[in-house]
Amino acid sequence: MKNVEQFSGMKVLVLGLAKSGYAASKLLHSLGAYVVVNDASPAEGNEEAAALRLDGIQVICGGHPTGILDEGFDVVVKNPGIPYSNPVVAEALQKNIPVWTEIELASRISEAPIIAITGSNGKTTTTTLLYHMLNIGGQQPLIAGNIGTVSCTVAEQATKDQIIVLEASSFQLMGTETFRPHMAIWTNLYDAHLDYHGSPEAYAKAKSAITTNQTQEDYVIYNDDQPELRQYALRSSAAKVPFSLMGRKEQGISADEEQIYWNGEPYVKRSVIKLPGQHNLENILAATAAAILLGCDKTTIENVLSSFTGVRHRMQFVKELKGRKFYNDSKATNTLATKSALAAFNVPTILLAGGLDRGQSFEELRPYMANVKVVVALGETAENFATFATSCGIEKIIRAEDVKDAVQKAYPLSGEGDIILLSPACASWDQYSSFEARGDQFIEAVMQLH
Ligand code: ADP
Repeated sequence: MKNVEQFSGMKVLVLGLAKSGYAASKLLHSLGAYVVVNDASPAEGNEEAAALRLDGIQVICGGHPTGILDEGFDVVVKNPGIPYSNPVVAEALQKNIPVWTEIELASRISEAPIIAITGSNGKTTTTTLLYHMLNIGGQQPLIAGNIGTVSCTVAEQATKDQIIVLEASSFQLMGTETFRPHMAIWTNLYDAHLDYHGSPEAYAKAKSAITTNQTQEDYVIYNDDQPELRQYALRSSAAKVPFSLMGRKEQGISADEEQIYWNGEPYVKRSVIKLPGQHNLENILAATAAAILLGCDKTTIENVLSSFTGVRHRMQFVKELKGRKFYNDSKATNTLATKSALAAFNVPTILLAGGLDRGQSFEELRPYMANVKVVVALGETAENFATFATSCGIEKIIRAEDVKDAVQKAYPLSGEGDIILLSPACASWDQYSSFEARGDQFIEAVMQLH
């Protein structure tokens, strides 16, 4: 850890007691800060609250008492999910008290350089790919953020010769002040989380915080095919590394139908890549550029590209059975993600879709339904999805009780060369505790087929 003395005697209010709040409280307390924790839910049964109290940290649960900020805090560290409309957060900002998320703490104490990955989609895939490349290449990467351990805990243990590969959401990035990743990767920018950020501009601005404190010694790897994103990336002082799917480019990393190019020179053939989908090619370009800049050799990169078949539940190749390939894309909880999945294959597809009903429309999928020969509709949106599929001219549409039933019904309807794809375009909470649970049931059901 570096600069640990900065927290000594600091008065910090930690808002929210999820994993990140717990980790931040422990860390700050151990560094000599005076920490108070506040969480809206009751203390009963909250093991984290009990554990922090045992450490001598004051924990206030069950609401946000008025006047909680009157004690005069130097900083508020909030859980990324807590909105800025929260009364304590709003009051803190009004009083000019900085509001951080725990990635700010990570950046302040980390001895290891941070490679931060953000974007509306593709964060986890890019983070995982880069992690594998560095790991297999013999470096010592540590994975942090949404997909791994809380980043301030990782940063606490990281040494100079390691590299932190950090998945950073817009919510986390909004709570930064000095956060400075040595490399910032920005995969793409779509309208998302507008309920939280209020406007597309506010969302883009939050994401662009990934580059705010970068200097000429740093790098920004960004999607050059998106003009709006490019504008933000170009404002960074870091060295610019654009990536593009629009054919060979002189600068940065690019791809045409055949090759991936690094600064205009052929680098690897696309035929080695296992991971399907144009969208994944974006993730591959971004991760590859970072790996090259971090000294990873080409053989390692090729090895990873020829073996990586996807992160669990994200267009994950599950198995091939009698010429049919099964893919688990349970993480596709909206139409944008399902659109990418459908666009990735140009073979007859049996699509398993449907889930939590948010009154959403599936219209956006229409141009991508041409290869779909059967739809197995499930969940709360089964009827809506079936109606939509009928209007697309799909002849065979059946209903299933759940994902297991859907797999069992889909298989007999498939032929050699088909793919059977779970890409629900809906959240899972109507029938499952999470998209992971839904995807696990898919994998299990597929494994039982023979
Ligand atoms: P995130 O961590 O940003 O949510 P993931 O890597 O977990 O992203 O992918 C989530 C879903 O988004 C995947 O199921 C996939 O269908 C879609 N996706 C992944 N990468 C991209 C991309 N670069 N562009 C568009 N969609 C993508």
